[in-house]
Amino acid sequence: MNSDDESVIETKVRNSEMSSDVKISRECLNQRVNKKDRKYQDSYIKFGFTFDVEKGEPKCVICLERLASESMKPSKLKRHLVTKHPQFQHKEEDFFKRYENSIKVQKNTMRNFTSVPTKALAASLEASYLIAKTKKPHSIGESLVLPAAIKIVSIMYGE
Ligand SMILES: [Zn+2]
Repeated sequence: MNSDDESVIETKVRNSEMSSDVKISRECLNQRVNKKDRKYQDSYIKFGFTFDVEKGEPKCVICLERLASESMKPSKLKRHLVTKHPQFQHKEEDFFKRYENSIKVQKNTMRNFTSVPTKALAASLEASYLIAKTKKPHSIGESLVLPAAIKIVSIMYGE
């Protein structure tokens, strides 16, 4: 099963609140784990892992699987990425950060959970990233970008 069409992520993508609280929470969690031998490093995001503050464990931003805190080292994290998500292994930090942001947003919108195919999620994240960069209100996603995207796709692939 190579196609990421087949894997499904339990998530609901929202465009809002993309980034402002990320820095703060990173500082907090660094403090939380400072005492331990294995501490989460910000750089681990490049392996697709964020830190689950409640559980004290590394968490994959793609499949949301948590690893044991003993596994909080680059070799183990990378192994998960390469074996479970080979299609993402060469992605840059920014790519995973966007997933990380979407998880944070999800936490605030639990009631809207629904299944979204991975590719659709990735496309949506790309779009919301572009929207965020323009500093336009995220509602433009629904009022303009979505209808535009549907138009583009229907012209390219037929109705
Ligand atoms: Zn994973």
